[in-house]
Amino acid sequence: MASNDSVSMLSDFLHMNSSDQEFSYANNSSVQEYVITKVQSILKETIKEIANLDGFPACFNIADLGCSSGPNILSVISNIIDEIREVCKQKKRKAPQLQICLNDLFGNDFNSIFKSLPMFYAKYNIAKEDNGGRCFISAVPGSFYGRLFITTSMHFFYSSSSLHWLSQVPKGLENNELNIYMAKTSSPTVFELYRKQFQKDFTMFLESRSSEIINGGHMVLTLAGRRTVDPCSNDISILLSLLANSLVDMAAEGLVRESEIHSFNLPMYTPYIDEVTDIIHRQGSFSLDVVESFDVYFDQRDAPMKVSDEPSHGKKVASIIRAGFELTNFGTSAMDMLFSKFAKYVDKYMSPAKTKHFSIVISLTKI
Ligand code: SAH
Repeated sequence: MASNDSVSMLSDFLHMNSSDQEFSYANNSSVQEYVITKVQSILKETIKEIANLDGFPACFNIADLGCSSGPNILSVISNIIDEIREVCKQKKRKAPQLQICLNDLFGNDFNSIFKSLPMFYAKYNIAKEDNGGRCFISAVPGSFYGRLFITTSMHFFYSSSSLHWLSQVPKGLENNELNIYMAKTSSPTVFELYRKQFQKDFTMFLESRSSEIINGGHMVLTLAGRRTVDPCSNDISILLSLLANSLVDMAAEGLVRESEIHSFNLPMYTPYIDEVTDIIHRQGSFSLDVVESFDVYFDQRDAPMKVSDEPSHGKKVASIIRAGFELTNFGTSAMDMLFSKFAKYVDKYMSPAKTKHFSIVISLTKI
């Protein structure tokens, strides 16, 4: 079992930008926001099912895993609270007290979430003398690829757009040429190392949650994946090839060293749906209730680039990618140049109608 006593290697060089930065996750999380909206109906169904089967315990323990620090987090929590209250009202039952645990890596900007809590509590915790439906929010920092909570203490896990991040760059990836992810010129060994790391991490995730959740407890998870078996025909892989091209251009201009690109690979993996379901079946602690998937467009404007002062499609995609991938080992000052080159590549090779990623959503019950 992975330990949270040692900080995840992922956090050593990859982090969501904090809320006060121009390229913050808070300001550039519209793609993830869309995913949350799409998952709402599954979330509602799951909460209804809990109410219909066992009902809620007096204190219902929920965790949002990989919550980050943007506005999405409180909208997710509001959705969950509203739905629980609505179901309880319909069934003429007292709503449970809600213990809501927000999880992310140790370096996450939890303080910016805490600052928005007074307003949130003012809206959600008014006039609750009997404490029905009252919510108590806390932070649980650490990697979800290890234990985070007390054994059989949790009732519901939610995670959105986080599980495609691996716990670390797969070991042995030294030979990925000038690629930074799985690309057309990567060797079969590279694909295999990425696939195995995901398999190991996702199994570890399921094992950890299985120890923490009660029997019959539920999880709703979304992650970026791919529609095809081929690991490098999907949009994320194509976009990351353009990011690698931008780095190679910078190396040609002497702005970064080529050896740095050779030693750099992203710790993420966009699985094919069957890979996800196979791991769930093999791990064996959860039944798979729902599997769905949908495309998420990076640029959701109806009429892109009609207004002259709007950023180009490339710039918009660059801001979204940059908010999640501040590649600090190339030096902060190189980032502006890198993402400006990347934006130009995106404008040249990708159209707003095409730049998308594929999201997988699953709903699981502990057996
Ligand atoms: N759930 C949010 C944020 C998604 S961004 C939303 O839907 O908007 C992905 C988040 O996952 C980041 O904040 C990142 O730090 C977090 N993350 C990645 N790996 C993690 C891990 N092993 N443990 C906990 N959080 C992790």
